[in-house]
Amino acid sequence: MSELNAFRTEVREWMAGHLTGKFAALKYRGGSGEGDALPELRKEWERELAAGRWTCPGWPAEHGGRGLSVAEQVAFQEEYSRAGGPGRMGHIGEGLMGPTLIAFGTEEQKKRFLPGIRSGTEFWAQGYSEPSAGSDFGNIKTRAKLDPETGDWIVSGQKVWTSLAHLSDWIFVVARCEEGSVGRNGLIFLLMPLDQPGVDIHPIKQIGGGAEFNSVFFDDARAKADDVLGQPGDGWKIAMALLGFERGISTLGQQMSFQQELDLIVEVSKENGSDRSPAIRQRVAYAWTGLRAMRYLAMRVLSDDQSAETRREALTYKYQWSNWHRDLGRLAMDVLKMDANIVADDPRRERLQQMFLFARADTIYGGTNEIQLNIIAEQGLGMPREPRGKL
Ligand SMILES: Cc1cc2nc3c(=O)[nH]c(=O)nc-3n(C[C@H](O)[C@H](O)[C@H](O)COP(=O)(O)OP(=O)(O)OC[C@H]3O[C@@H](n4cnc5c(N)ncnc54)[C@H](O)[C@@H]3O)c2cc1C
Repeated sequence: MSELNAFRTEVREWMAGHLTGKFAALKYRGGSGEGDALPELRKEWERELAAGRWTCPGWPAEHGGRGLSVAEQVAFQEEYSRAGGPGRMGHIGEGLMGPTLIAFGTEEQKKRFLPGIRSGTEFWAQGYSEPSAGSDFGNIKTRAKLDPETGDWIVSGQKVWTSLAHLSDWIFVVARCEEGSVGRNGLIFLLMPLDQPGVDIHPIKQIGGGAEFNSVFFDDARAKADDVLGQPGDGWKIAMALLGFERGISTLGQQMSFQQELDLIVEVSKENGSDRSPAIRQRVAYAWTGLRAMRYLAMRVLSDDQSAETRREALTYKYQWSNWHRDLGRLAMDVLKMDANIVADDPRRERLQQMFLFARADTIYGGTNEIQLNIIAEQGLGMPREPRGKL
């Protein structure tokens, strides 16, 4: 058995031995559209993973990870999803905050924050978007003012679409720290506890019934002087580096859950006879083809030496998967036929309905379709930059 296969077996056996008993209720839960499902049990699951050293396995060993190779991380993600591993409550801490702290944090900050992420005891939210600053991220208005007596930063403003803020302990906030500054200048990257006076979290109800994201209001809330990442003014640079970490290894694990959804669609179509429709058969085959093509692209990008050509191809990935997945939602509804319109206690139908509703957001978060196409045109094809006002 190759080393990688032995590793796969280790993950598979661990999952089979632990995603059981009370945790069996978590199988296939917490994915598309139900990021806030069963929160307490899923937090407990994070601690179970931590006890097996399966949180943050891609972090370097010196920071408490396993320092897994890219191939091993991919294998881990795939086996985790194949076993029905639930959506990760700790993914913002593990995938975004941790690597950013490792890259930009002081030794004290690393010592203070990395263990809580690793042990599944401290959860993080991402405070970037504001009502008028989503794609136009440089238009951030949340203010941070220095308190000369304490050195703390006093923060006022509003963040929006903040995933899992109501279930998190900390939030990283990009705010404007220089009065009169515009665009990417004068921004600060702050680490703030959510449980403090001056922070108000309001859930936003989603079309699928859940409320996984929130508006977060800051009214003279505080960030301690020690909890600035980098220097005041470095906010843009750090925020962009963090977004780079967002498009990582987990995309291949995500494909395993896409595969499960496609398998479910095929299963339902065989049961209810929609597989006899030539149009449905064509669309199923088309969906399968798209998924295989995405898989090979992702494998190539992850395993390549990052040649210029591969970097260009990597730019297309978000655009491809989000449109593919949105179309899969439509296919699921057409395969279900009239049943798609009925709320029922059938977990398979519910999963497909939720997937359809949530997939509408896939082409918005993580950079909208239009923004992705701008990036491909400018960075991939060297076309002129679009006018960007004062940026
Ligand atoms: C499910 C979900 C979870 C999210 N979680 C978080 C989170 O945890 N933390 C967080 O900070 N944010 C989060 N977001 C917010 C997300 O990052 C923003 O919704 C996204 O960046 C788009 O910004 P916007 O909603 O302000 O839309 P806008 O930027 O106002 O866009 C509106 C429309 O205008 C188009 N447009 C805008 N600018 C251009 C341009 N220059 N060229 C062409 N077209 C353009 C857009 O493509 C879009 O079609 C989440 C969003 C969703 C849907």
